[in-house]
Amino acid sequence: MTKITETIDARKRRARKIQAGLHKLYPDAGCALEHADPLELLIATILSAQSTDETVNKVTPVLFKRFKSPRAIVNAPADTIEGIIHSTGFFRQKAKSIQGACRKIVDEFSGDVPGNMDDLLTLPGVARKTANVVLGTAFGKNEGFVVDTHIGRLATRMHLTWSSRDAKDAVKIERDLMELFARKEWTFLGHALIQHGRRVCSARKPQCDKCTLADQCPSAGSFEADKSTRTSKRTPATR
Ligand code: SF4
Repeated sequence: MTKITETIDARKRRARKIQAGLHKLYPDAGCALEHADPLELLIATILSAQSTDETVNKVTPVLFKRFKSPRAIVNAPADTIEGIIHSTGFFRQKAKSIQGACRKIVDEFSGDVPGNMDDLLTLPGVARKTANVVLGTAFGKNEGFVVDTHIGRLATRMHLTWSSRDAKDAVKIERDLMELFARKEWTFLGHALIQHGRRVCSARKPQCDKCTLADQCPSAGSFEADKSTRTSKRTPATR
């Protein structure tokens, strides 16, 4: 078992092995949110907070068929948007964020989703996680590391972050992951870690006995339910 006191160089070496393992396991890892352009991905990512990709993928075709531009979304009655996105949860807050983001895109960015971090972060409802999804997947830019609930959990269990047990500190976890992995890998690794979290290293029942990354994981075999992942933060504020 690797000690949590390992040096940064040792952790980087271990991270490279985990990276190689993830490439082998999930060579085609990609974004599961269906989208045709940056605006659709932005909206789908906002909707995905505290929801599932499957639910979002059922909702967005209806939304995008009815409202084909940011201006059309701005001009739509809020309750119509809310009705369409209702099943994703937190529908009032999400409708407000989507319409607010579209308003800003129309007013300040000529109707186009901005392709840089600073501008994306000015959009209502958009924090680093959403901005990283949009930049990495829609613009092909590795500006940061997506940290969602899966990645926070896996980074903590695999000791890829110095934030120890605090899997909720997304900003710190992102910074640690960016330090460990090469920039060109950030987007791929985000997708691959999410897949691994869904398929093998789930919150309640990590299948360490079937995990091909176990040799590089300090938590392998010694895992008891990670209490930090049991407390669901029922708020969409972690976007
Ligand atoms: S060994 Fe267990 S805790 Fe570590 S990544 Fe694999 S499933 Fe998760």
